[in-house]
Amino acid sequence: MAVTRGLHTVARDRRISVRRLTWLLVPGLLALSVVAARAPLPKGLDGMTLCLPVIGPVTRIDSTLSGRPRALAEIHERAHAAQCREMGAVRSYAAGLSIDGKLRSEANAFCAEAHWDLALGYPRENVLARIADELETAYGWTAGRSRGEIVAAIGAACPPLSARARAGD
Ligand SMILES: [Zn+2]
Repeated sequence: MAVTRGLHTVARDRRISVRRLTWLLVPGLLALSVVAARAPLPKGLDGMTLCLPVIGPVTRIDSTLSGRPRALAEIHERAHAAQCREMGAVRSYAAGLSIDGKLRSEANAFCAEAHWDLALGYPRENVLARIADELETAYGWTAGRSRGEIVAAIGAACPPLSARARAGD
């Protein structure tokens, strides 16, 4: 009897401590998302999307952008926000630990930009070249990857820009 009560007590204590932890975690995450939504963007970034547990995606766009750069930044970050909602914060974080994972994520977001550019009538080759240029120069972690590897990653993540799609032109 005493043992049973003891077990119940342990179980209840654990439940309470998990609840307490949640109460500590949620305001912390809320504070983090407010800070993330208001802090100035790191220099040179048009936009960024944080993927937080419980809260979900928090997106910032450079407020000085307008016109086409702003539209592209919004489309790009919207794609990252969709990735965050689809994969969740933990899997998004894990994907960001490898260069291949980061490349897949970026190629997917640039593919959303590509759909926009193709709809506006930009030639497929030019859209592919612009995205490959950006991935090659604007992201330090792609330094070890060749142009061919970057183009292959874009093609894999973005059927409209893949070699097969281009061959069908
Ligand atoms: Zn991105």
